[in-house]
Amino acid sequence: MERRSTKQRGAVLKAVIRLNHPTAQEVYEYLREKEPRADEKRISLATVYRNLQILTEDGKISSLSAGTAEGVIRYDGRLDPHYHIRCEICGSVMDAHIGYMETLNKSAGDARGFAVKNHVITFSGVCRSCQAK
Ligand SMILES: [Zn+2]
Ligand SMILES: [Zn+2]
Repeated sequence: MERRSTKQRGAVLKAVIRLNHPTAQEVYEYLREKEPRADEKRISLATVYRNLQILTEDGKISSLSAGTAEGVIRYDGRLDPHYHIRCEICGSVMDAHIGYMETLNKSAGDARGFAVKNHVITFSGVCRSCQAK
């Protein structure tokens, strides 16, 4: 049992890294499609959820809830601090290709007497393919 769950966790981790900030549902659909097997051996949505939770707790992936569509949690295999950009139409989330501004932590912290460790920025707008529609 343990071996199987480790293997499944590895597959979920790979899917998160491979896909672009996927939801649990997207990870599930990807794995179902990628590894078609006899029904009883297929990974279940509950297993995907459980593994995503364990991977997040273990710090192997992170979850993004700020700035994404209401109630939808997306997962990220990239762990260094970085910003995101989200499409208001299709809901897709990508990495924003601008560098993390460490100085913002200091500015915000100094202004409030906080030892600021991190900040989260999600830009929003309309992605290229939605603009083309
Ligand atoms: Zn879009
Ligand atoms: Zn990211």
